[in-house]
Amino acid sequence: MGEEAVVARAAPHFGEEPCISGTRGSGAVFFCGCNLGCVYCQNAAISRGDGGRTLSVEALADLFRALQDQGVHNLNLVTATHFTEPVARALELAKPDIPVVFNCGGYESPESLRRLEGLVSVYLPDMKYADPLAAENYSAAPDYPAVADAAIREMVRQTGPYVLDGEGLLRRGTLIRHLILPGELPNTFGVIDWVAETFPGRRVLLSLMSQYTPVVFSETYPNLNRTLTPAEYRRAKRYLLESGIEDGYFQDLDAAGKDAIPAFDGTGVE
Ligand code: SF4
Repeated sequence: MGEEAVVARAAPHFGEEPCISGTRGSGAVFFCGCNLGCVYCQNAAISRGDGGRTLSVEALADLFRALQDQGVHNLNLVTATHFTEPVARALELAKPDIPVVFNCGGYESPESLRRLEGLVSVYLPDMKYADPLAAENYSAAPDYPAVADAAIREMVRQTGPYVLDGEGLLRRGTLIRHLILPGELPNTFGVIDWVAETFPGRRVLLSLMSQYTPVVFSETYPNLNRTLTPAEYRRAKRYLLESGIEDGYFQDLDAAGKDAIPAFDGTGVE
């Protein structure tokens, strides 16, 4: 991707956790491109760099203000890691007075994250893999567990323990997401163990996601061509409930399906 941000959609979004979507929606800005290339990407329509509109820093700041004016609970910047600098400058211009959520893959450098300190109040990182082999197979990033460990520690350092307001909305903090991949339960167990050991004592929220939906056919990884089985779902849920982690979310199994993927049709950008 180039120096300027490319945006595919900017609109109220109701598909996030209740503490992010609330009743009026989260002001989601979907950026094109990604610094990872996961083979199963649920947003492959835009994460490979296709589509979208290139915006100057000033135009991006205008877009942030326009979204805030729609009454959303927060600005939710989805996959903006590779645009950290223009996004930081646009936030400095727009000065939003609602929480800014940085919604990312967990594969960030602490240096990039420090550029966002004071501009972002909520981090929403994935913790995709505890298993380096799974990280290599699915994202060509065997260093993912180590990189994400350092990144998420930096996020929690910046935000401190999570804070919910009187309406149950996340004002500040770090909500870690993990998408359970079919056939990869040991990786999921490793992620749950990592969260329990790294952030004891109610410092972070964990969202265990069961909505995995095949979007492309994989000859190499047949396990990715199906959704979770009920047995996998039950085992993951039981492991979480026995882990000691008390704060967070667990999706219902029927969350799987392409309805969870928004239309990347230029809404709010054209
Ligand atoms: S990090 Fe997320 S958006 Fe990027 S390729 Fe992986 S699944 Fe897709």
